[in-house]
Amino acid sequence: MSKLERQKLSLPSGHDKLLLHSCCAPCSGEVMETLIESGIDYSIFFYNPNIHPVKEYLIRKEENIRFAEKHNIEFIDADYDTDNWFARAKGMENEPEKGIRCTMCFDMRFERTALYASEHGFSLISSSLGISRWKNMQQINDCGHRAAAHYDGIDYWDYNWRKSGGAVRMLEISKKEEFYQQEYCGCVYSLRDTNRWRMKNGRDRIQLGVKFYSNAMDDQD
Ligand code: SF4
Repeated sequence: MSKLERQKLSLPSGHDKLLLHSCCAPCSGEVMETLIESGIDYSIFFYNPNIHPVKEYLIRKEENIRFAEKHNIEFIDADYDTDNWFARAKGMENEPEKGIRCTMCFDMRFERTALYASEHGFSLISSSLGISRWKNMQQINDCGHRAAAHYDGIDYWDYNWRKSGGAVRMLEISKKEEFYQQEYCGCVYSLRDTNRWRMKNGRDRIQLGVKFYSNAMDDQD
């Protein structure tokens, strides 16, 4: 059990339910449990055409579905429109993580989330993306606000999911649930760059589908 008590949250005023974009089970587990304990009505929106290859995409998605079903949370399975993702990433193949390719990638995922929200009666969107310490929260929040601004009546909730022990509980839940442990951000370029780094540092290349969180492991992510 975490020593850090979970804070009970309320949605920003004027909103009664939330469309939560989820990138994966490890990142969304803590966010989902916090929302449930806070009595907040929400649905999961899984739109991540960045994830490559399809084997990795399906593993990450299935893990998220398993957790949503366990908690009886609606899971909206959106397109895997990789052609669009690659078209938008053209010319940015060699950009570093946290650079302009990632801004494009967050923009694209938030744009679809905001579109779905506007067409299905949600007035508030957010994402699990910002809970990871590997991500630039300001970059993510800028993308979220930008997407929401395209629609009248849609707001982006930039709550900091890392605070009040959120980042610690994220790891605890991942171990308890034995979630699949992805070893790169998601796209083919992050897979390439992580493998390059690993080989330079004498480590083996990433093997897809083999690593899972467990209570026996050291805290490493
Ligand atoms: S590194 Fe991650 S955030 Fe950046 S483009 Fe690739 S999948 Fe998207």
